[in-house]
Amino acid sequence: MDFDEIKALDEKYVLCTYSRYPLALAKGKGCYVWDTEGNKYLDMIAGVATCSLGHSHPALVKAISEQSKKLIHISNLFYSENQAKLAKMLCDLSGMKAKAFFCNSGAEANEAAIKISRKQTGRREIIAMSNSFHGRTMGSLAITDKKKYQKPFEPLMPETAIVPYGDFDALKGAISPNTAAVFVEMIQGEGGIKMPKVTLEETVGYMKDVRQLCDETGVLMVLDEVQTGNGRTGKYFAYQHCGIAPDIVTTAKGVAGGYPMGVTLISEKVSSCMCTGDHGSTFGGSPLACAAGLATIETILKDKLMKNAEKVGKFILKESNFSEARGLGLIIGIDTDSKETAQELKKKMQGRGVLINIASEKVIRLVPPLVISKEEAGICMDNLREAFK
Ligand code: PLP
Repeated sequence: MDFDEIKALDEKYVLCTYSRYPLALAKGKGCYVWDTEGNKYLDMIAGVATCSLGHSHPALVKAISEQSKKLIHISNLFYSENQAKLAKMLCDLSGMKAKAFFCNSGAEANEAAIKISRKQTGRREIIAMSNSFHGRTMGSLAITDKKKYQKPFEPLMPETAIVPYGDFDALKGAISPNTAAVFVEMIQGEGGIKMPKVTLEETVGYMKDVRQLCDETGVLMVLDEVQTGNGRTGKYFAYQHCGIAPDIVTTAKGVAGGYPMGVTLISEKVSSCMCTGDHGSTFGGSPLACAAGLATIETILKDKLMKNAEKVGKFILKESNFSEARGLGLIIGIDTDSKETAQELKKKMQGRGVLINIASEKVIRLVPPLVISKEEAGICMDNLREAFK
């Protein structure tokens, strides 16, 4: 089918909840994708911070194809070697004494965290940050600070509060004996690549203060690392830049290199509250998904992709001197002056063979595969500099 045929079929049969690029992608290799008309693009989006190993990585392709010949799905009624191994690997990488719950997306990982926080503390209220994004299911939407996304679907989960991101005193003032958990993104991805404080050093201080406040008040610190986790910032989880550990961390996106997976890692002190039947997912942690997760993480470690993320991320930031830019590793935001400029740049870049994404209406979000080379990043930045002129 050509692009026009695909678009017509999609518009007739797919629910219109997405704003799409005028492209249908047909194949990918490394950091490049090709559309149905045969045009090649450098992919600085990576399925929105998801295809950690790029496209068609041989290790991921091998793991998925070999596992698919053995078992694809078994339900969680049975033990599975891949699930047990991946749980250990993620718990070890988190630096927490923890247990893993497997699901299929970031929103689901956050739903599990909400339920566990309530059960463990016996309290009800969840506090989240201004400009947050935690997903679009009813619970995760209730702690997502986007009135536009929430309004049509009210009433949402009750007993939530939003405090200004980075304002420690406001958080302290908002915590009550009914507060079960505080949800924080150390870098807000959908929110425009923002940290709670301007510098990493100040952010580390803030995160440490929040950790201490949670300890003092018996509130659980839940870190949403759906976008920042899995090596993207140069450490496996972004909180590892801060020398703290959360009570619960949620992740998804890059954890299985593009194969759908969500994970909630729950510290041992909290996980003991959960028992059989308290939560579940038919597809969560299937042998196939976990084979993809194992291959992804093994490759990230073997090929030192966290180091690469740090190195190429620094290079991109240095090359972003034509505008305000910020980020950590390979999650980078470059400001534009308006929504219209951002859209125009996105279009211009597509014409130049580079796919970029816009977050928070006017921020260029660069979240390429972790395998990207300095040369490939240079192609993006040269084009972006020209497009900005
Ligand atoms: N949390 C964060 C920080 C995210 O960036 C996202 C998605 O962009 C989500 C949660 C929701 O993840 P999903 O779309 O997999 O449900």
